[in-house]
Amino acid sequence: MKVADIRPDALMEGQQAAMQRDIAMLQARRAEFVETPCPACGDDAGAPLYEKYGMTHRRCAACATQYVSPRPSPAVLRDFYRGSENYAYFARHIFPASAEQRRERLFRPRAAMVADLARASGMDRPALVEVGAGYGLFCEEVRATGVFGRIVGVEPTPDLAGICRDKGIEVIESAVEEIDAVEPFDILAAFEVIEHLFDPAAFLTACRQLVRPGGRILLTCPNIQGFDTILLGSASSAVDHEHLNYFNPDSMALLLRRAGFEDIEVTTPGRLDVDLVRRALAEGTVAPAQLGPFLAHLLDRNDAGTDTLLQDFLRRARLSSNLQAVARLPA
Ligand SMILES: [Zn+2]
Repeated sequence: MKVADIRPDALMEGQQAAMQRDIAMLQARRAEFVETPCPACGDDAGAPLYEKYGMTHRRCAACATQYVSPRPSPAVLRDFYRGSENYAYFARHIFPASAEQRRERLFRPRAAMVADLARASGMDRPALVEVGAGYGLFCEEVRATGVFGRIVGVEPTPDLAGICRDKGIEVIESAVEEIDAVEPFDILAAFEVIEHLFDPAAFLTACRQLVRPGGRILLTCPNIQGFDTILLGSASSAVDHEHLNYFNPDSMALLLRRAGFEDIEVTTPGRLDVDLVRRALAEGTVAPAQLGPFLAHLLDRNDAGTDTLLQDFLRRARLSSNLQAVARLPA
């Protein structure tokens, strides 16, 4: 899989312009930003690391989570996601151009993975809820596996909730924190949600209310201690104006443990690190000297076999920049 498959190059320029207006919208409300402790461990000794897009990034001295503080308040974030030009641009241009690639390369493998998780856990016709269902591609692919007895998407954005309903997906049109009592689910999945949130611990507390005792939660987010994120640092595309929380495998496990989950398994199944770093080299975002002679040589070879070995190593050593956590709510 290549980055261009899911982020078409020709459309990235328009998205850049929309993104700049989004950043300006956030910065205009800087007076409402709130200082926060580390979102994983609660320690408040996070030394400033760098500024990007007007956001101050810190690194927790205790658990090495990178986080934005001060950060936009919940009220600012609500207005931001309602008014985001970047999201509107994505909906109008990028999503239609890349939906089938995204379905095939991102959502179908994820659906296969939750189906495997359900089987491995001995679940019979389990109920699954996806928090942040978006365009419903994951729910559709989960439905196609035939493994699940019930599939529900939680989606607070009215347009997206409507798209999911049109696909015949059952939708709870609400923020997860505001859901009233529901029949609990066997598996809860939230892909690339937790890095955006003001308070990840509060989010997990809300998620717990949706999961039955012994049920599973599955999260994905960037890994700030990955190949792409370490080598590129602030130049990594994972570091943007929307992401407020940058966990690593150990701090994600810590966060889940503090939220009351057990049997926590954190992996880094990412497939794009090598491609992302090579693109950054080609675009001059990073200089070969910054990689050191060995990695510069390795990437300069541009050999598919070597790339596959390297990406496989990164995945197995939990050094890919994409993180996945599976955990169980105690029975
Ligand atoms: Zn910490």
